[in-house]
Amino acid sequence: MIGVVAATAGGRGAAAALAAAWPGEVREFTDLKAGEALRAAWETCDAIVSFLAVGATVRVLAPLLAHKTSDPAVVCVDEGMRFAVAVLGGHHGANLLARRLTGVLGTEPVVTTASDRTNVAPLDSYGADIGFTVHNPELLAHVGAAVLSGEPVALEGADDWPLPALPPNVRTDTGEAATGIFVTDGAEIVCMCHESWFGNRLVYRPPSLVVGVGSARGVSAEEVGDLIDLVLGGAAVAPESVRALATVDLKADEEGILRAAEERGWEVVTFPAEVLAGVEVPNPSEVVRAEVGTPSVAEAAALHAARSFGRSAELIAEKHRSANATAAVARLRPRGRLSIVGLGPGARDLLTPRAEEALRRASVVVGLDQYVDQVRDLLRPGTRILSSGLGQEEERARTAVEEAAAGRAVALIGSGDAGVYAMASPALEFATGEIGAIDVDGVPGITAAVAASGLLGAPLGHDHAYISLSDLHTPWEVIERRVRAAAEGDFTVCFYNPRSRARDWQLGAALRILAEHRPAGTPVGFVRNASRPDETATVTTLAEVDPGEVDMYTVVLVGSSRSRTVAGRFVTPRGYRWSFEKSAPSEPDEPAGASR
Ligand code: SAH
Repeated sequence: MIGVVAATAGGRGAAAALAAAWPGEVREFTDLKAGEALRAAWETCDAIVSFLAVGATVRVLAPLLAHKTSDPAVVCVDEGMRFAVAVLGGHHGANLLARRLTGVLGTEPVVTTASDRTNVAPLDSYGADIGFTVHNPELLAHVGAAVLSGEPVALEGADDWPLPALPPNVRTDTGEAATGIFVTDGAEIVCMCHESWFGNRLVYRPPSLVVGVGSARGVSAEEVGDLIDLVLGGAAVAPESVRALATVDLKADEEGILRAAEERGWEVVTFPAEVLAGVEVPNPSEVVRAEVGTPSVAEAAALHAARSFGRSAELIAEKHRSANATAAVARLRPRGRLSIVGLGPGARDLLTPRAEEALRRASVVVGLDQYVDQVRDLLRPGTRILSSGLGQEEERARTAVEEAAAGRAVALIGSGDAGVYAMASPALEFATGEIGAIDVDGVPGITAAVAASGLLGAPLGHDHAYISLSDLHTPWEVIERRVRAAAEGDFTVCFYNPRSRARDWQLGAALRILAEHRPAGTPVGFVRNASRPDETATVTTLAEVDPGEVDMYTVVLVGSSRSRTVAGRFVTPRGYRWSFEKSAPSEPDEPAGASR
C-alpha cells in the first residue's frame, strides 16, 4: 500500500489523482496534521509519497528510521509538481516509485543512489522480484563497492535464475576473487561464514525449495515444525529458500500445518488427492491411499508444487515421519522469463516506465539493431545484446525463446507495440513447446497508428481497422479483400508497411478501393517517423494524396465517410449523433460549428 500524505490543496488534488490512477494501491492521509499523517502512513504502508518538503518529511521520520530493508520507501514531491525525490529506500521501491509518479503527475524523478547513476543492478534488491533474500546484508556495502569500482568479483550459482545483468567485472570464472556473490539454498554457508572465503561472499537465498507435508488430523504445529526443521537440516538446505509448504486439499484447514507455515512466513499451497495420486514418488503407501485417495502426500505435494513453480523439480529429501506427520523436500529448477517489450514509436518519453523496468530486469536483450540502439543507454552494463538485421524475425524470436528456456531473463524488443505486426506472435508460437517452462509477459507500447493519431488530430474517434500492406506474410488477394471489407464497412483505415522500394503499387491500389466507397474530400493523414527527430505529419485528401510521398517509415490513415478536416486537423466524429450529424457527406469541408 502506498500512503499519500498531503497538507495543501495542491497536494490533496495530486493525492486524489494518484488514488484514481492506481486503484487499490493508494491510501490518502490528507485529513490529519502533516506530522501525524506521515507517522500514520509510516506505520501502515510499504511506501509513502509525501507532498511536504524534504526537510519537513525527514524531521518527522528521522526518529522512526530502523533499517532500509524494513522501513517504507519515501518519495517527496514539491508543491509545483516538478520533482519526485526518492528520499528513503531508493532500492526498496522509492526510485521506482519516483519514476512511476512521472506518468501521473508529470514530475521528474530525482534519484541519488550511486548504482542508479551507473545503471548497475543494485545488490540490495538483486533478484528481489523473483524472491531472492540477502543472507548476510552486512556485506552489501563491501561487495557493492567492489562491483561498482570494477574489481574482479566472483559470481556463483546464479546461472539458472532469471536475474538482471551484472557488469563485466562480475564473472563466473574468477573463483579466487577477493569478493564474490553466491546464490545458494545450501545450509553449509551458515556454519562456514566465518572462514575467509565465505567471509567475502554476499550470499543470496533463492526461492528454490518446497516442503511437502502430510499429517494425521489434529497434529500440533510444534510437531510439524520440528519435523520440517529436521528434514531441512538433514538435507543441508536453508529454510530461507523455502518458497512454499505444499499439502493435499484435505489438509487445507489443518491447524498445525497452517501455523507451522505461518510461523516461518511460508505460503501454503494445496492440491486435490487425484492430482497427487498421479505424481510418481519413491515411497508410495497403500495405507495412505486408502485414507486420503493418494499413495503419497508429502513427496507428491512437494514435487508437484515445485514443478508448478519451476521448469522441473527433484526430491532432495524423501519422506520422513514423526508420530503424526510426514515431510519431504523438493528443489526446483527455476523458469526463465521472456518479456516482450514495446518501445513505443521512438521518443524516449513515449517509452513506458514499465518497459524501462523490463529492460533493466533483463540480462539478454534480443531485437533489431536499430531498436537496440534506441534503448542502449537504458540497458544495464553487462547485458548481452543479440541483435540482427531486418528479415531475421524468425531467428530472433527463436533465439529469445531459447535463451528464456535456458533460465535467463530475456527482453524481446520491438518498436511501437511488440504485438502489432511484430515479434510477439512468432515468439509465442515458438514458445508453445516450452511455454509451460518459461514465464512470459507482454509490456504494451504506443503503436504507430496511435502515435500518428495524436499528430494528425482525432482520426481514430470511431471504428477503425489496421491493415498491413506487406505481402511478405500475406498474399495480395487477402490484403485486397480486407481493404475492400474495410471500405464497405466504412472503417477509418490505418495502413502499416504501406510502401517500400520493392512494393510500390499496393498503396495506390488500396487507396483506389477506398475511394470507390467514400468522398473525394475524405481526409488522408500520413506520418513519417512519428516522434523521431525527422518527424513529419501531413493531412490531405483521398483525391490529392500522392503515394510517392510515402515510404516504409510512414503510417497512413484514411478517414471513413464521416471523417472531416477541421482547421487542418483530421477528425473522425465520435458518433453519428454528435456535431456532424447534419452535415451531408457531400460537404466534407464544412466546419464543425456550422453543422450544429
Ligand atoms: N510494431 C510496430 C509496427 C511494426 S510494422 C508498431 O506497433 O508501431 C512497421 C510499420 O509500422 C512501418 O512500415 C510503418 O508503417 C509503421 N511505423 C512504425 N513506427 C513508426 C513511426 N515511428 N512512424 C510512422 N510509422 C511507423
